Amino acid sequence: MLADYHMHCTPYSPDAESSMAQMAEGAFRRGMTHICLTNHVENCAQCPEFPDQFPPFEDWDALRREYESARDLYAGRMDVRLGAEAGSPHYVPEEGRRVYSRPELDFVIGSVHNLRHARDFYYLTYPEDFSLFRPQVEEYLDEYIELAASGLCDVLGHIGYMQKYMARQGRGFDMMIFEDRLRALFRVCRDRGVGIEVNTSGLHDAMADFIPQPSVLRLYRECGGEIVTVGSDSHRADDAGDGIREGYGLLQACGFKYVCLYRGHEPEFVSL
Ligand SMILES: [Zn+2]
Ligand SMILES: [Zn+2]
Repeated sequence: MLADYHMHCTPYSPDAESSMAQMAEGAFRRGMTHICLTNHVENCAQCPEFPDQFPPFEDWDALRREYESARDLYAGRMDVRLGAEAGSPHYVPEEGRRVYSRPELDFVIGSVHNLRHARDFYYLTYPEDFSLFRPQVEEYLDEYIELAASGLCDVLGHIGYMQKYMARQGRGFDMMIFEDRLRALFRVCRDRGVGIEVNTSGLHDAMADFIPQPSVLRLYRECGGEIVTVGSDSHRADDAGDGIREGYGLLQACGFKYVCLYRGHEPEFVSL
């Protein structure tokens, strides 16, 4: 069993380069037995001050039709499910609820790509002195606590997202300096049945690590966390399925017994 539960495709994700069929083909060739297509839905993260956030997503009918043909094409060979990566759905809870309730979706990743009234971390220039940026990381983790409590996602996406872009600028920090906040976050996760994802997109990037970093994943386990999905966050077919095996190895090393699939927003535990 190899499941890539974080994949983007064009035209639904503006930053993707490959179609749904190409992404599925890439994942299948890489040996995936299960995939979940999770396109960006940034409807709740719109920021008038910085209009470079992806536009609101509304093309559900086209998405469903294309998904159904990909699912049918791989029937009996690879399990293809449809999800979404919702950007900060708790910023506009009623809209976040509308997205989460879409009947097409088996699975929703909740990700904070931008703080309120701020640009996506992708666009930021990071200071050499981390103390200048520290308050933003604290605010970021506080947003995840609110997101986990909101009931508007199934798992929390890439906790430590900015570390990927900081590393490209030669900057970095150890997320464990925020251990108290992380423990508070993981308590909410446990109480609300919210999982986290191991995002492998940093492995072949400057940071050369998983997101969240392994010590954070170990802390989640220590706090009673059991629900984990693994996703490549791939945006082109060549990257589909990338790092999933390595992610399972990390989960085992951290003491996890299961990885999760999702149907109807309910986790299905599969032994590692
Ligand atoms: Zn993301
Ligand atoms: Zn993504």
